[in-house]
Amino acid sequence: MKKVIIRKTEEIENWRRNINNDINFIPTMGNLHNGHIKLISTAKNDNSNVNLVSIFINPLQFDNKLDLENYPKTIDNDIKISFSNGADAIFIPSNEDIYPPNNKNIKFLKAPIELSSALCGLNRIGHFDGVCTVVYRLLSLIKPKNLYLGEKDWQQLLILKNLVLRKKLNVAIKSIPTQRDFDGIPLSSRNVNLSKKERQLIRFFSSELLEAKKIFQQEKKINLNEIIKKLSAKKISIEYLEHLHPYTLQKVRLEDNISLLAGAIRCGETRLIDHVFLMKRRPIIAIDGPAGSGKSTVTKLIAKKLKLLYLDTGAMYRALSWLLIKESIDYKKEKKLQDILKDISIVFKSNTNSKQDVYINNYCVTEEIRSQKISSIVSKISSINKVRKFLVKEQRKIGESGGLVAEGRDIGTTVFPHAELKIFLTASIDERAKRRKSDKSSKDSQEIDLNTLKELIKKRDFEDSNREISPLRKANDAIEIITDGYSINEVVDKIIDLYNEKIPKETEIK
Ligand code: C5P
Repeated sequence: MKKVIIRKTEEIENWRRNINNDINFIPTMGNLHNGHIKLISTAKNDNSNVNLVSIFINPLQFDNKLDLENYPKTIDNDIKISFSNGADAIFIPSNEDIYPPNNKNIKFLKAPIELSSALCGLNRIGHFDGVCTVVYRLLSLIKPKNLYLGEKDWQQLLILKNLVLRKKLNVAIKSIPTQRDFDGIPLSSRNVNLSKKERQLIRFFSSELLEAKKIFQQEKKINLNEIIKKLSAKKISIEYLEHLHPYTLQKVRLEDNISLLAGAIRCGETRLIDHVFLMKRRPIIAIDGPAGSGKSTVTKLIAKKLKLLYLDTGAMYRALSWLLIKESIDYKKEKKLQDILKDISIVFKSNTNSKQDVYINNYCVTEEIRSQKISSIVSKISSINKVRKFLVKEQRKIGESGGLVAEGRDIGTTVFPHAELKIFLTASIDERAKRRKSDKSSKDSQEIDLNTLKELIKKRDFEDSNREISPLRKANDAIEIITDGYSINEVVDKIIDLYNEKIPKETEIK
């Protein structure tokens, strides 16, 4: 494809008509550094869309005239960098192109107060209104499928996500983690204006934030005053330093697992921002749903793609049922059950095919627990209070430090009620019976006729949904996905998109 530079808004329309492809859009204000390069190359590697980089210093988002005048302008170099890193087109409009003097087609937007009044919005009056106005204008002209933004400007990212929702724009926002320089400070076009001394100060500030993140991992709390004291001792002028909920930007609550520690400091004429995400544990995805809804297949793939642990809680109930049958334990007798639960160990181990085997008291039961015999009894056993208490405790132990995707019936409601993402996966009974019939891991299901299988699934659903303790139901904050008519990959991609919306990419960095 011929690489082009577009300078007029009218040319955008023509170009778009000729490319016959979806667009990845990377908006910038120029003076490109490795952060921008990461955005461009991520877009290039994500898909086969056409990549358009825009370079436009938006006067509306500068609350300080001097800052606008001093903003570094390196257009020739920016063009080279963009093209050599994957841009197919570069849009370099003039002020008059974006803001025609008669203001035709321009909507001057306001950022939402809840998000724009905190952090940078406290001092940069009108800044986020300017950001919303220019991005909305650019999106209306370019109509991209994907918009690539850095998490470095986290508040801006939230405000733009909100803009896309508010204006019902048909664009997906993809974010990349903050890119840092060799000395740990976040890459920023304004860094070129820093003196050696100022750079040392921002380096100290960034390293204090990273240190706070480390301390938080151990102690699960931070002391803002202590950090402020340390920064003040270095004569760093702090504009703000706040510990907030990462999405609402309200004060962080005790139950929040991920929080945002964000600050802005002034170094001479330059104002710099940095942040870290603090996590009590790594994220958890909870996937619940009835039998045959595709939970296992989808959960395994998600675990692989997101490098999370995979926890099949159904296998634990099945394994326990298997043992009770094998040892002929009368599970209705409380004392007997209590005795056996004391000595039970259920573990998952990867086998040579990189699949998970489940062991109960050292017996590998992976295949046997999929039999119809177990399927028909497991719901009864799983409705016993002592059994649930025991297994929920085991499951929470496995998920203690997070970093897992767990599937079952009560994950979002009981086992991990604070999971970052909760999915309720379901499908029509016909679809679920069909899936079970073709399930290679269950020989029994393949041998049973479809109608009988349907009745057996209905019965199990009924038992699971109507038991007294933690019945199968959708958690209030779970997202329901009805999978009829969708391929496995479509469902997996949808859940991964939802995960990426809820979890900053930066949290994946150690
Ligand atoms: O998911 P799977 O079909 O393997 O689950 C088997 C059974 O285990 C379910 O029908 C249900 O009775 C029980 N179960 C449960 N709670 C979970 C997971 C499974 O009660 N979290």
